[in-house]
Amino acid sequence: MPVSSQDSTHQPGGLNLDPWYDNYARRTAGLTVSEVRALFAVASRPEVVSLAGGSPFVSALPEELIHRAFKRMMKEHGAEALQYGGGQGIVQLRERILDLMAIEGITGASADDVVTTTGSQHAIDLVTKLFINPGDVILLETPSYVGALGTFKSYEADVRHVDMDEEGLNLEALEAAIHKARAEGKAVKFLYTIPNFNNPTGVTMSAARRREVLDLCIREDVLIVEDNPYGLLYFDEPAPNAIRSLDEDHVLYLGSFSKILSPGVRVGYVLAPHGIREKLILAVESSILSPSSLNQWLVTEYLEGSDWRAQIDTFRGTYRERRDAMLLALEEYLPQLSWTVPNGGFFTWVQLPQSLDSKQMLPRATKELVAYTPGTGFYADGRGHDKMRLSFSLPTPERIRLGVRRLANVINGELEI
Ligand code: PMP
Repeated sequence: MPVSSQDSTHQPGGLNLDPWYDNYARRTAGLTVSEVRALFAVASRPEVVSLAGGSPFVSALPEELIHRAFKRMMKEHGAEALQYGGGQGIVQLRERILDLMAIEGITGASADDVVTTTGSQHAIDLVTKLFINPGDVILLETPSYVGALGTFKSYEADVRHVDMDEEGLNLEALEAAIHKARAEGKAVKFLYTIPNFNNPTGVTMSAARRREVLDLCIREDVLIVEDNPYGLLYFDEPAPNAIRSLDEDHVLYLGSFSKILSPGVRVGYVLAPHGIREKLILAVESSILSPSSLNQWLVTEYLEGSDWRAQIDTFRGTYRERRDAMLLALEEYLPQLSWTVPNGGFFTWVQLPQSLDSKQMLPRATKELVAYTPGTGFYADGRGHDKMRLSFSLPTPERIRLGVRRLANVINGELEI
């Protein structure tokens, strides 16, 4: 079995700490420790300013709101909340999800078109399970979400990056990638895209580019998986309407409550064309029987009994202030570098001088009490050594400033060597 270099149970000298090692399925070779996850232990030490993870600032959510929703939920729906539910998720929640999607231009869908999941990571896993045979091609942005890359690898997909510019996916590159894969006799199963405030780059696909990408995918018969956990968290202008708002047959739309409510509730959703939806429900049932009834009812009560739109505005204000603090600090302390200016979401993407390796530099950074996410984790093909993702979602503006100052010391120190 192929062995990952990050598999801690297998030693190169032949010493094998896991007695079951030889029994694992071949696809587990794709299950490697994510660089982001490995960072969590270091970055969570209180003295370290972590610009690494992508955790939302849940403290901006008044506890009282959740307490009230929880109490009401147990009073009104306690018996159902403690019971198994259906594989598609509870209909009352699916109806409220329609209100959320309508904000991004998705109208005309019905609650029956929606499937709830255990976060959108679960949805990514289910969709990959439904479509990918080993070697099938998945196209995605350059760079892209580390968690999706991990899932795709675990199903032995042939993951291929498509270049982006400041308007999102490059159309010629996308077309060329589709044709190249087909010329090699490969099945192109879907395009995975994060059009709003992309993780890790913060880039947003323009309205015109969405139309063009969709038209190309319709012409070429390629399904689009539109992953949109950050869309409502814009800072200045709302993002253009979802790609799904333009077409209901070629787009599988993924949403999540992780960033606008709480990742701890683990509730996400998929809006899918009819045939795929039926398969998705079967896939949910075969993997977890049904998503958590308790958590779905909690989210439903939250949506029905509180001003969730105002709460999203509060989150947006907080993140906007932190984005501004991050950009100002970069200008002040690292003016020689370049970075993206996100109009929403949690991240900016920094280009380092070619001579630097962000992964190798990380131990030095953590010694200086700052953490970031090295660029390489966001590429399936080993690129990204001279990039890093900085997250501004969790630290306060003062801590962001301190973190960037420390980072500047590290970077300038490396350049002097
Ligand atoms: N997609 C993207 C682009 C993400 O950034 C994340 C979380 N960081 C997810 C999906 C997974 O989110 P969830 O908590 O809903 O599983």
